[in-house]
Amino acid sequence: MAAYQLYTLAPDEEDVKVFTNHPTLYFDDGNLILSCGNTLFRVHRSIIAKHSPVIRQTLDNTQLHTLRGCQHLPLGDNPVDIEALLSVLYDGLRVNFPMITTSTFPLLSRLLHASTRYKVETIRADLLACIQNEWPSLLHLHDMKMQAIWTNEFPKPSAALHGGQADHDPNPPVLAVQHQDAPVNPALVIRLLRETKAGPDHLLFPLFYAMSLETVQSGPLVRGARIAPLDNSDVERLIAGIEELRSRHSLMAVQCPQVLNPPHDATCLAGIRKCWCVIAPDLLLAPEMARRPIEAWRNFIAHFSTPACQAGFSFCYTCATMLVEVLEHSRSTLWNDLATFFELC
Ligand SMILES: [Zn+2]
Repeated sequence: MAAYQLYTLAPDEEDVKVFTNHPTLYFDDGNLILSCGNTLFRVHRSIIAKHSPVIRQTLDNTQLHTLRGCQHLPLGDNPVDIEALLSVLYDGLRVNFPMITTSTFPLLSRLLHASTRYKVETIRADLLACIQNEWPSLLHLHDMKMQAIWTNEFPKPSAALHGGQADHDPNPPVLAVQHQDAPVNPALVIRLLRETKAGPDHLLFPLFYAMSLETVQSGPLVRGARIAPLDNSDVERLIAGIEELRSRHSLMAVQCPQVLNPPHDATCLAGIRKCWCVIAPDLLLAPEMARRPIEAWRNFIAHFSTPACQAGFSFCYTCATMLVEVLEHSRSTLWNDLATFFELC
């Protein structure tokens, strides 16, 4: 009877056969090996344990095998997630995404998942601050963002026109930038916040508002793709919120508020009401305006401050200023009620 002897790899041979050292995060003087699948990260226990209480507790409470003379902690993560996290840990610990776009979002998402799972709070806080920066909850910051988008999408007439002729440059630079660095779908960010349990209303409501601006299908997206990342309860929140928001907007639009300046009731108030009736249908109630009420009101309110409007409809600067104050307050209330409209609090 033939005797068969199983060939067993020597430990070193087996090691080489199975594992791949990460090209940059495998330090010769490391004393802890983290493995994800067959990728090895050789790192420093003190650094990792200092920033991740999850790994620290695992190292303290678990009897680990050794590999190449180091403690070996197998992780169930995708290696690219751990690569992202370790790169930040070894590169000063701070992270910043000045713009969250389709090209930067995947890295942000990986980092937020990994920093949440391993409770690396500094990184997680930085990432949430980046999201808040991109979709601000403070109205004046939101206004600045929308103004910048408006300026980019619609170049100033002096840049687009030369002597009354439209500029027919077939490759306008603005469009090229948008293509390479397109805005990320807010639904993906909402889903990320839900997955990482990072969804207080002040982070979420600006994202829901951003989604509500694009309820008309446009561009190359497959129908339904924009909303697909949301779970059913967030789809319902979005629908309910849009209904509430536009309903409040319509109510505000059809009723010119009372300006309390009795000496001018007979003159200025009549002029203000007339102006309201003339410009509200276009600036507040046209479909493209009603879809973005916060921006529509900003534009609408600005008209009352212009001398031309005041002269054209015979109301004084003082009454205009009083009206603008009332309307700014209403607009601010509308913004602050968004979390309630979208049932986020
Ligand atoms: Zn007046």
